[in-house]
Amino acid sequence: MNKPIRPDNDAERLAALRAARLLDTPREQAFDDLVNLAVAVAGKSMAAVSLVDEDRQWFKASHGFDTCETPRDRSFCQYAILEPHRLMLVEDAEQDERFAGRLPVIGGKSIRFYAGVPLLDGEGMALGSLCVFDSVPGTLEASQAAALRALARQAGHVIELRRVTRALDQQVRESTWFERELARYAELLERQNAQLAEQARTDPLTGLSNRRAFSAALAVEIERANASGSPLSVALLDLDHFKSINDVHGHVEGDRVLAEVGKVLQAHFAAAGVAARYGGEEFALLLPGTTLDSARAQCELLRQAVGTLPLGAVVSASIGVTAYRPGETYASLLERADEALYRAKRDGRDRVESKA
Ligand code: GH3
Ligand code: MG
Ligand code: MG
Repeated sequence: MNKPIRPDNDAERLAALRAARLLDTPREQAFDDLVNLAVAVAGKSMAAVSLVDEDRQWFKASHGFDTCETPRDRSFCQYAILEPHRLMLVEDAEQDERFAGRLPVIGGKSIRFYAGVPLLDGEGMALGSLCVFDSVPGTLEASQAAALRALARQAGHVIELRRVTRALDQQVRESTWFERELARYAELLERQNAQLAEQARTDPLTGLSNRRAFSAALAVEIERANASGSPLSVALLDLDHFKSINDVHGHVEGDRVLAEVGKVLQAHFAAAGVAARYGGEEFALLLPGTTLDSARAQCELLRQAVGTLPLGAVVSASIGVTAYRPGETYASLLERADEALYRAKRDGRDRVESKA
């Protein structure tokens, strides 16, 4: 094998050829059409879309022969790509010192006539040529040469179109991936935000609303009561002698008592209203749409439920309950509930006191 003739930029050119992803791919109608047209306009017996690889020319399309590749060093195209913007014409290879006595053979035939126009990619790299050839010498008229050039330009456009389509496909795939990732992160963030918001509203020991969440809920219910004129009651529940429960049974048991009282309240207010841990061993209850009498009755039930909790420690609760007076402030409402609670404590604990 002789050394093929190579252009100075052959490494770069070969990289572009690889990037075009045409080598060793199946036949395609678009290229077949072009070689069929080339044969028709040039009046020669064979035509090809030849891609000049490292050591071979590989035919993406062919007409008049069915070889898929030949050695690069025995090809016309190795010369054609040296001048990317010129049509290479060899009227009789026997008269050409580059080929005389060693004619290129394609499809089993020695080739005498060759006309090839370099195939340029979008960057102007000569990947190969669109060529017509014959086993007999010949010539090409100016109009035929012009038609061959036009067909080669067309082949270049097909190659560029394939590249752009592939790049677009890739972008679509990537953007779909990014969209999915974004959606996943957004969902994660939303879940985390929801968790954080929940944590900010919740007392960790009992799982009840905390004081801040209670205040917000009370403000909403006051507005609603003002707008609708419906009743609204509020109660404060404080565990009796809780300090001595801690002292006698230990702080851990104290925590357990708080959690169990929390469960009783949670169950009672699951459907309507709010139970919150208001302070250490103090709970606040919000009873919307509930009159003072009804609230008092409910508080009495709660007091009994707390008092009969099956715990190691004897637990009781004092409860002060009051009803909202239209127009009054949030602070004065809670102050009255606190006064009622104070009275319950003062009068002996383990009881419900109300203040209208
Ligand atoms: P009273 O009947 O007058 O309410 O008496 P008390 O002992 O319940 O009231 P006091 O305010 O003197 O004491 C409340 C105790 O509650 C003191 C504090 O250590 C305890 N406490 C507050 N928060 C917690 C908690 O989260 N866990 C436990 N185990 N104890 C707590
Ligand atoms: Mg107490
Ligand atoms: Mg207290």
